[in-house]
Amino acid sequence: MATLYIVATPIGNLSDFSSRAIEILNSVDQIACEDTRTSLVLLRHYGIEKPLFSFHQHNEHQKVDHLIHLLESGQSIAIISDAGMPGISDPGFLAVRAAHQHGHRVIPVPGPDALTTALAASGLPCDRFTFEGFLPPKKGRQTRVKNISDSEITSVVYESPHKIIKLLEQLNQFCGNDRWVCIARELTKKFEEIDRGLLGDILPAWKSRKTIKGEIVVVVAGKEYSED
Ligand code: SAM
Repeated sequence: MATLYIVATPIGNLSDFSSRAIEILNSVDQIACEDTRTSLVLLRHYGIEKPLFSFHQHNEHQKVDHLIHLLESGQSIAIISDAGMPGISDPGFLAVRAAHQHGHRVIPVPGPDALTTALAASGLPCDRFTFEGFLPPKKGRQTRVKNISDSEITSVVYESPHKIIKLLEQLNQFCGNDRWVCIARELTKKFEEIDRGLLGDILPAWKSRKTIKGEIVVVVAGKEYSED
């Protein structure tokens, strides 16, 4: 029985890497990562020198076999993604499932993720929430937005900067002006921004921006939530 470690990496600020994560990555035989160039920046920063192989959404199925083969040969493997927790809107799930199914040990090494970081910073209720990940670009998108609008509890959505206005417009269409939202952009990075307010104020303010860059999480309050 070999071990597959699921290792979280920083979502922006390299200092958020845990000492346990560094210790584990220094101890494994190989590291599975998404983009080797991205991971090398972090690994070099911490002086970690290990064989890497890439494991991304386009080759995940094929690479699971390779990963299981390595585990069967007794090698210990760590999975990291470009940022945050592997498996959270990132490759990882298939490998973790396969490792369990083949009787290998799975050890999580937790750390940053954009989902809980944004939620905790939003000042919106975080006792119960739904993680929506990325909404589909076209088919099924409206239904998902409507579900968010109808939800009694907080929803968390990952969105790209070039689609944020479209998402805010769709949310506004279903939720109206009086829904609380929080946009968390560039978390833990130099230009970090946490902008919260009612959709009726947030939408025009974001629409008036000349450019929107960086990584974004949108937190949407449940339909009964109010700060009155
Ligand atoms: N595995 C990652 C995690 O644990 O959060 C998520 C990876 S997913 C491919 C990338 C998305 O996460 C981005 O498009 C953005 O929505 C969100 N994200 C990642 N880093 C972020 C950051 N520093 N600030 C805001 N959102 C971030």
